[in-house]
Amino acid sequence: MSDGAGMPIRVGHTANAGRGVFAVRDIDLGELIHTADPVVAHPSLASLHKACYFCLKGIRRSVSYTESAVAASATEGSPTFCSSTCEESAQVFYATEQQVDWSEFHEYCSNYGVRFPLIAKRLACMVISSGTSPNSLDILSHVNLSNGIPADWITERKLLYKALRSKAAGSLNLSFLTDDWYVGVLARLHINAFRIERVDQDDSEDILAAAAASILGESILGSAVYVLPSMYNHDCDPNVDILWPDNASANLVARRSIKSGRKSRKRLSYTSFTPTVVVQMSFRGCDLMPVLSKSVWCIF
Ligand SMILES: [Zn+2]
Repeated sequence: MSDGAGMPIRVGHTANAGRGVFAVRDIDLGELIHTADPVVAHPSLASLHKACYFCLKGIRRSVSYTESAVAASATEGSPTFCSSTCEESAQVFYATEQQVDWSEFHEYCSNYGVRFPLIAKRLACMVISSGTSPNSLDILSHVNLSNGIPADWITERKLLYKALRSKAAGSLNLSFLTDDWYVGVLARLHINAFRIERVDQDDSEDILAAAAASILGESILGSAVYVLPSMYNHDCDPNVDILWPDNASANLVARRSIKSGRKSRKRLSYTSFTPTVVVQMSFRGCDLMPVLSKSVWCIF
């Protein structure tokens, strides 16, 4: 078992449910247990100009953009950043990404309505830019592929490789970008990626409108993957909420008091309208309802 430095939790193995998160002391209702930055995140194609291309912060008309962000958003196809800090931080993938023509890859993702290839694309660009290891997601659990690898994943890997191997990007080192690598990434994204949605403060008085926007996918900002939050087991009677008060950086907050050493649970999506960003966990079983539903997660 490993201790989270300074955190009231530790990660360990449960008797029959794999890894789990355990309280090492009593945790009070509403206590911020820890924060978590994503390993990788990517806005949805429909949100390229509604969310920061780096941190997924929802961008409103009233936001004061940096000069560079204004210039970028004014250019067709250019990403939008919420700040110069995010624009600089994005170079860990964007320096590579901007060398490549992504039109065919994005067209595939748009036509098939898939989002995980976008995260794999960003992760690949980070690896190429030496911003992360090809194995950075290996610690996460993955779907069982004993029934075979989905043919779509192989198609997507070829499209990703083809784009990165394009004339403009011909010098990139793509030795890691094998079928095995792509399949390993997708197998983890399918059970660990969070869908990040935006709930405007103005929507708080019209629950039906907000719910409709969620169901139609209009509020989706993008997807993100984390390490520690993925160690939690999920449960239909959760005791921890995951909140996104500003951007893709997550807050894990006690939904009620948690006793040290006692089994406890976390939840999947956030139902309050207080934050501007809420998230749903994907492919995790029981409470996979749209944003305004009850939700799910567990700590032990
Ligand atoms: Zn940002």
